[in-house]
Amino acid sequence: MADVNIEKAPSGQEGQGFFATTLDGAVGLARKNSLWPLPFATSCCGIEFMATMGSHYDLARFGAERVSFSPRQADLLMVMGTIAKKMAPIVKAVYEQMTEPRWVIAVGACASSGGIFDTYSVLQGIDRIIPVDVYVPGCPPRPEQIIEGILKIQHLASTESLRRRESEEYKTLLASYNINQ
Ligand code: SF4
Repeated sequence: MADVNIEKAPSGQEGQGFFATTLDGAVGLARKNSLWPLPFATSCCGIEFMATMGSHYDLARFGAERVSFSPRQADLLMVMGTIAKKMAPIVKAVYEQMTEPRWVIAVGACASSGGIFDTYSVLQGIDRIIPVDVYVPGCPPRPEQIIEGILKIQHLASTESLRRRESEEYKTLLASYNINQ
């Protein structure tokens, strides 16, 4: 039990009285364990997120308990629920107001693909308007699945190069969504 919730250091060189690692590794460690989620919850999947934040599943164990409703103070957008086409510009505006580095999880079938609502009024997945890093399947997904999604984001955050957000590949990705950096 002693090692529970003890974060491992990134790989590096250590000796008596010193430990050296890369800047990417140190920053990745900090980012991984201080995600600030912005829950954009529109329907049933949002209820599962509430359970994920509760004491039983306790998202605080992953350093992500500081939920933000201000896009400028959040780095993880979690879209949970059906997104009507009328609401799509709002989701995009929230994403654009977030600072880099930012990550996105599409939680549940509706956010990922429109789900059962294959209709004229529902956006058929939020990746039509913003880039998505992780998709969590399910209708609704259980809290364990949402936590799995967070763990995948943590992996991305801890292994991402500090130069990625400045790369041509990333700029091209945003440009394909008509998003200015
Ligand atoms: S995926 Fe299912 S549970 Fe989630 S918002 Fe859509 S209909 Fe509701």
